Amino acid sequence: MSNSKLYHIYPTMKCNLSCQHCFLHQEVRDQKERMTQEEFRSLVDNMANDFALDPSAKFAEVTIIGGEPTLMPPSFYTKNIPYLRKKFDETNKPISLTIVTNFTTTNALKRYAHLFDIVSTSYEWDRFDSQKLILGSNSSKKENWWKNLKEWTGEGRKVAISLATTTETIENWEEMFELLYSNGVRFFQVNLMHPDGELMKGILSDEDYEDFCSKRLSILTDPMEKMNHHYKAKDNTLWPSFEKEAEFLIALTLWLDKKDDKDLVIYPINSHKECLNGGTGNSDIACPASGALCVTTTGEVSGCTIESGKPNMISYGNAFKDDFQEIVNSELRMKHTMSLDLKPVECLGCEYYFFCKGGCSFRELFWDRSNPNAECHGLKSYFEFIKNNYQN
Ligand code: SF4
Ligand code: SF4
Repeated sequence: MSNSKLYHIYPTMKCNLSCQHCFLHQEVRDQKERMTQEEFRSLVDNMANDFALDPSAKFAEVTIIGGEPTLMPPSFYTKNIPYLRKKFDETNKPISLTIVTNFTTTNALKRYAHLFDIVSTSYEWDRFDSQKLILGSNSSKKENWWKNLKEWTGEGRKVAISLATTTETIENWEEMFELLYSNGVRFFQVNLMHPDGELMKGILSDEDYEDFCSKRLSILTDPMEKMNHHYKAKDNTLWPSFEKEAEFLIALTLWLDKKDDKDLVIYPINSHKECLNGGTGNSDIACPASGALCVTTTGEVSGCTIESGKPNMISYGNAFKDDFQEIVNSELRMKHTMSLDLKPVECLGCEYYFFCKGGCSFRELFWDRSNPNAECHGLKSYFEFIKNNYQN
């Protein structure tokens, strides 16, 4: 576990879009309109207290996410974010505060964006529809997104673009990065795809998906159970192979070098270069669940973001009803995080284990460990590329 804590708050699960890669089930989105100010503040009190009580936690990443958080009235943030800052400041430890928005309603956002350290929005090539044309497409959502982005960066504001390694994105990555770069984006966060829910349904055959659904809970909470499961994607329409993801990260590393722009940052590439040189771990690829507390609009708590979007999520307790430290110390949390942290023997002997920590357990289900030449879900060949080319 790294020395950062992750606190994710979902003030609302409602959204004005319906995206293909969204991890939130419709049922979850409809459960409750929004958190009240009292609920938000009591959650902040509990999270700040948890951060203060944990001597190993040196830094906290606090994220306001949804749903679409800008659907909350602006006064929710102008009143409550200074409260959040004050509570976390009292811990005398640093935090980074992010709001994740779909960037469709930036007028309201402009009123309180300055209260956050990072404004982040996601973009994949097929973010709003399956059309391959961005400019000149008929998609008003896409046009609106681009209009807002250009206006935002044109006013000298910063934005982080977070993107998932969808097949469409990997196939069109260079054009997409050039377009975003030429429109003023200098901060990118690349997220490897974490299959579950609708995405898992699209990746697996009907038979495998049924098998996964019936065993999901035991795979994720019984440390010995998940080693017995291996699935194979039926095709790569939605999710590229691990090989393609590794090739993409290597090409992107070379693109970053070619730009030679000290203001340009691509996570996790920049930090991987540093980590491999320094021999230290970080949380950019390692599973963060054991140091994370994600709380949904209804108050349910889990360590894995993916759980927050599921109707039958693995919930350690309810932050609005139960004692927060009892939730933190619950048996289910221990079983869940132990299971996610347990890695196959191939990982334990791997020279990159010190910072990869065996990666994501959902991805691990697709790693063909019986084939020594198969790319792993942590993307070992990309690590090798970084080591061979950037180690001092
Ligand atoms: S298992 Fe870990 S890495 Fe995978 S989605 Fe959950 S928190 Fe993230
Ligand atoms: S690089 Fe691959 S084999 Fe090595 S620890 Fe990560 S997932 Fe395991």
